[in-house]
Amino acid sequence: MKKIISASLLLTITIASYAQSIDKIVTPKEVERIETTLASDEMLGRKAFTPGIEKSADFISAEFKKIGLQPMQGLTSFRQTFEIIRPRFVSASGTINGEVKDNKSIIVFTASPSLTVNENSGYKKTTIAAGSNLNAEVSKYLKSNENILITVDTSFTKTFGNLAALKRALYNPLGNVIVVLSPTEPTTFSIKAEQEITKLTGSNIVGVLPGKSKKEEYVIFSGHYDHLGIGKPEGTDSIYNGANDDAAGITAVIMAAKYYKALGNNERTLVFVAFTGEESGLLGSQFFSRKLNAKQVVAMFNIEMIGTESKWGKASAYVTGYNMSDLGKIMQKNVKEGSFTFYDDPYTTMRLFFRSDNATLARLGVPAHTISTSKMDVEPFYHKAGDEVKTLDMDNMTTVIKAIITGATGIVSGKETPTRVALPTQ
Ligand SMILES: [Zn+2]
Repeated sequence: MKKIISASLLLTITIASYAQSIDKIVTPKEVERIETTLASDEMLGRKAFTPGIEKSADFISAEFKKIGLQPMQGLTSFRQTFEIIRPRFVSASGTINGEVKDNKSIIVFTASPSLTVNENSGYKKTTIAAGSNLNAEVSKYLKSNENILITVDTSFTKTFGNLAALKRALYNPLGNVIVVLSPTEPTTFSIKAEQEITKLTGSNIVGVLPGKSKKEEYVIFSGHYDHLGIGKPEGTDSIYNGANDDAAGITAVIMAAKYYKALGNNERTLVFVAFTGEESGLLGSQFFSRKLNAKQVVAMFNIEMIGTESKWGKASAYVTGYNMSDLGKIMQKNVKEGSFTFYDDPYTTMRLFFRSDNATLARLGVPAHTISTSKMDVEPFYHKAGDEVKTLDMDNMTTVIKAIITGATGIVSGKETPTRVALPTQ
């Protein structure tokens, strides 16, 4: 009897101290300090690939250092830096089987300023037939890192020009992809293209907390620290602070790092990431995803816009792509019953699951979801200069952060493993 009493007493004490420690570490005051710094005018709206974002990169790095995180394997700092190219069209011309092509029927994807190729250049050849999904097909080849000449059926004449938009997603192509409108498959061809290339660099900020027994299994906590920078003034305000989008998510990432470091019992390796280039087409997460084996990533908690109340009120959030894995259900199970609700995404027609950095990892099979409270249909300051700290509810945001951390405990400890995401290949 005595033994039983002391065991249950011990359990009570353990639960109490656990609850106390999260409340001590994840405080509204600390949440406010980080949030306010990231969203201050000094950070100049944190536009990716501009000098304006550097101060926030330094701030996040300094927080990671203070917490005691380690750089990612192979890096000497928390910055994971990469180069992107911004091509500007100059000219394109050529022939396919002797038929002359003008610049309206040629699009070139390359990091080179000038390109001259013909049938002897060793290019792989392929065609895209009428009725295909042109954008999806070309995107697939852009990821292959090979030199390819794609001839596209002339039924695509009207939409062909839209392919140029895909250049935005090219952070640094390794292969050259040439796309030409042509009724015939090429036997002989000659293509010449010139463009102006601007090179820009950006950095994800990555901090690691190695796992105790399951070091090779990763759990990612992420958000994006870039926003829109300085833009069209609204009244006298031209700095787009992005307090909710996504300084709030980064605040959550830093708080989670702080909490798990203090706890010091994560069996799996935790990777805390502040992505850059989210607003320019998920560029930072694309680079990040190439630097680690997605099969080793057990779960990804991507956090976006948690500073305002959700459509259901306080103490609730939604998980995008809720049914694509059981991550949401696991999170719900881990929070104290009745204290917080993780709902399914109510804005499915907006395809939010595919619009944030989680999508990059989800396409590789990772149970990667975005957790948000943003009322996407009516949020008044979304992508506006008015997205300022004063519009956020720090107490509720603290509650949301604590719920995400608590919801993740079983996964962090290695006891729970969410199901993989299986997306249709596209
Ligand atoms: Zn965002």
